[in-house]
Amino acid sequence: MTQSNRDPRYVAQQLLLAISMPDGLIFRELDAPSYTNVDYFRMACHLIFECLRCGNCCTTGDPIRLRPEDAAHLARGLKIPLNKALKKFTIADPQKAGVLNFKHILPCKFYDQSAKGCKIYQFRPWSCRIFPFLGIYGSEDRVVVNELCPGSVQTMETLKKAIEAVRADAGIGNASPEDIKCAKLLLREALDL
Ligand code: SF4
Ligand code: SF4
Repeated sequence: MTQSNRDPRYVAQQLLLAISMPDGLIFRELDAPSYTNVDYFRMACHLIFECLRCGNCCTTGDPIRLRPEDAAHLARGLKIPLNKALKKFTIADPQKAGVLNFKHILPCKFYDQSAKGCKIYQFRPWSCRIFPFLGIYGSEDRVVVNELCPGSVQTMETLKKAIEAVRADAGIGNASPEDIKCAKLLLREALDL
């Protein structure tokens, strides 16, 4: 996905196309995953999201979850053995069997206060990569804006305005199923994390 493809108006247009027909009518492939309109809204938000670097998520987010592959990625990034990374940085989630969390969180030990950024940005865990829109946050029926994240509030406003602008202009016209499929595939690139 190029930077110009992240232009809010372009993303809004692709979103309107993507939600104009359900996945089941567009994807005939048996193994193609199916997503809802709400999922496509989340993907669109993720694509245009701009972090305002306030640090709220990294200083107040708890727990920060890791998948096994995140721990392996972290170990490779830090150039240390996996068992050492697991011992030094992770702890088993007391609530969920088989799930790992970062140890000693709040603020996250990888948060760089002076630079207001992540010291391990290239190999940060998946839970940080999907923040703030691709998680569910308690609702599968609508996109829930995380009020602690000013970037997410701003993103939602930007997307709403862009949708209004597309609708007020030419809308999405008479889109073909191929156009709709392309729009869905473009938004799904948000999931390539
Ligand atoms: S790993 Fe990086 S992005 Fe994730 S909470 Fe820590 S500092 Fe923030
Ligand atoms: S809370 Fe949102 S805007 Fe603030 S640093 Fe985290 S992702 Fe960026």
